[in-house]
Amino acid sequence: MQTPVFIDQLPDVSAVVSHKSGQYRHQRNKALLDLLLKDHSDWQTRSACPACGQERGKSRSFSHTFMDFQRCSNCNSIYAADVPPQVVLDNLRLEQINATEPGKDREFEFISLLNWISLTEARLERSLDSVLDVRFCTQAPDWQDTVQRQSRNRSWHFLPLTPDDGTFASLKAKLRETNPKAVLVPAEMDRTADPAMLLQVIRENSPAGTIVFVTSSCADGLEYEILGADSPSFIPLDRLTIFSICGFKTLAEKSGYEILETSTPGRFDAVILERYFKSADNADIPFWSGFFREADKNRLHDLQILLQRSLKSGVLRFLLET
Ligand SMILES: [Zn+2]
Repeated sequence: MQTPVFIDQLPDVSAVVSHKSGQYRHQRNKALLDLLLKDHSDWQTRSACPACGQERGKSRSFSHTFMDFQRCSNCNSIYAADVPPQVVLDNLRLEQINATEPGKDREFEFISLLNWISLTEARLERSLDSVLDVRFCTQAPDWQDTVQRQSRNRSWHFLPLTPDDGTFASLKAKLRETNPKAVLVPAEMDRTADPAMLLQVIRENSPAGTIVFVTSSCADGLEYEILGADSPSFIPLDRLTIFSICGFKTLAEKSGYEILETSTPGRFDAVILERYFKSADNADIPFWSGFFREADKNRLHDLQILLQRSLKSGVLRFLLET
């Protein structure tokens, strides 16, 4: 079956590697170094792949910003070997949100999520008239206006980002109180200390038939395959788990979900790789160096479409049903 494609025109690579995003990366990495210098005996050690469960000893290890990561040899997911407590992660994220302005690109991402909900409604012939957004809109309260503008006929509930002790008690309470038909979990799975727990809490506190929209970074993406830890999107504190398609599928099924749809709508792989290979001093990689150095816009556009069609772009999307 051919998977859907989500690209009209190539995005501007400066949105990813701009001065501002460089600054964000430095701030997050500095926060990580500060954490590592403190006592971190309360970090949790992962003895197995958080996606497929393969024991950690069988995977390849590497480090980034002094943090140890593993690449699972079974499912290809990338994961931090040890993770800070959820409450520490949440506090750092709140500090970061308060210190910076949200980028335009994140708003684009949000609008595309709204479109995804509408398309899903049409495809499933089911009304998703009440939606719970899990911790995403906190990043930009203005988006709540976007929500009102784009989908007036839906009731929206927002679970703000607040420091959590790792049991997701506020999410449990919100699910029971609002009883939504759809739950939106964008950009959360990859930076949560325990993604399996997050999936479990949503499933156990929602009625059967609830639709869950998940997006996350994707380890099968060409960007991660070629650049690995050098990828500009690889910020350790935001990427404690980079799921592969196979890895997330295994985890979702193990957590009791039915998978309705899988896609990789990422838009940036081709332009990020072009930028990387066109900068001086980067290593030669057979085939790819020449491919990107000689690439024009059409070639990059065609490649990005191919990556989306073959589930090889850097962002994954799963549509799940409880
Ligand atoms: Zn795995």
